[in-house]
Amino acid sequence: MYKCSLERMTDKIKTFSKFGATGNGGITRYSLSKEAIMARNEFKRRMEAIGAIIEVDDLANMYATLPGSDPNAKRIVMGSHVDSVKNGGNYDGILGVISAMEVLETIAEQKIPHKHPITAMIWTNEEGSLYPPAMMCSGIVCYDYLPDDIKEKFKEEDMMKSKSIIDGKTTFGEALEKSGFKGDRKYRLSPEKYLCMFETHIEQGPILEEAGNDIGVVDCVLGMFNYRLKFYGQAAHAGTFPMKKRKDAFYAASQALCYLHEEIDKLGYPDLVYTTGEVVCHPSVHTVIPDYFDFSFDARHEDPKVLEEVLAIVKSCANKAWAGCTCKVEKMWNRDTVYWDEKLVSYVKEAAEECGVSHQYIHSGAGHDAQFVAYMLPTTMIFVQSKNGLSHCEEEYSSPEQCTSGATVMLNAVLKADAE
Ligand SMILES: [Zn+2]
Repeated sequence: MYKCSLERMTDKIKTFSKFGATGNGGITRYSLSKEAIMARNEFKRRMEAIGAIIEVDDLANMYATLPGSDPNAKRIVMGSHVDSVKNGGNYDGILGVISAMEVLETIAEQKIPHKHPITAMIWTNEEGSLYPPAMMCSGIVCYDYLPDDIKEKFKEEDMMKSKSIIDGKTTFGEALEKSGFKGDRKYRLSPEKYLCMFETHIEQGPILEEAGNDIGVVDCVLGMFNYRLKFYGQAAHAGTFPMKKRKDAFYAASQALCYLHEEIDKLGYPDLVYTTGEVVCHPSVHTVIPDYFDFSFDARHEDPKVLEEVLAIVKSCANKAWAGCTCKVEKMWNRDTVYWDEKLVSYVKEAAEECGVSHQYIHSGAGHDAQFVAYMLPTTMIFVQSKNGLSHCEEEYSSPEQCTSGATVMLNAVLKADAE
């Protein structure tokens, strides 16, 4: 059993928290921004200092590799992202990168023997907060292995045209060219060169904290569907048109949303989560009765049968009259539950046990780059407890001790995969 360094982890957490610091305890670090480039340069500097070989692919994904004793062995890769959402925290994504760095630094410092080359990696544009969609570059790299309906969303030429949400003009492709980090396609992650992948990430939920466990042995990413419910009414003047004659699309949608909550809650699945987080109201003027309203509906659960039951309720909305309006239900996309590689999951579990780190099995409700990689390579994830379950905000926090435990578990799990 090998241990990572609390001191070195603490130093990395502090250092990377400066790149894009908002002054309120968090960071804004869009992919390929000058703040993200500071983080990339720091990664490069520290990894070169331990003798790792740096490679950058044509999507600016960065790979730092320590050679193993067998030059022909495939690489074991660990990684996550350095970009954040607007006013995000100091842990989402970056923890997976500094944990991977810590594993390599520990291997170098303690001269831990290993057969396979071991790689720490930065994925470009995971959040998609400036250039949507999220998980863009893992989507492109793993494209050939993705299920068809996910594939459609990650066509490389479309991704290159993704426009900045700030200026509405600059494309991801242009930002990539300008970044100075556009490398060679031949360095992309591939099953020919890589054996398996580990991603350490904050939990982003309250389960580990409530159970008093520092580490989550992640077994799957939950299946989900994302639908859009669209309501069509009649616009008219807010002051002159009688209430009884109205076809108010907003009111119709609000009734449907309440109906969904009531009916879905009746199913009684405690692990089911569902969310309406995006709405469109037309014309969205205070003197006009809305003639159009639509809202998103995202539901997540491990069991596809549960999701089917929920979907039946969602679809039933199209057959009902809502405040005189009509309703259309449209599928945006869905994915089945992605299970991590059983052997890798067992290595993480054994490593946590041997290192005496408190842990439990847990599902991931959020998407991560690892989930696309899982279609290409054996893959797994390690979660670190999130204080109050908070993420994508400046209050994000995991203690340096918990972060170091996460890195220690990953180190020992990687060495098990190496010894296989
Ligand atoms: Zn993340």
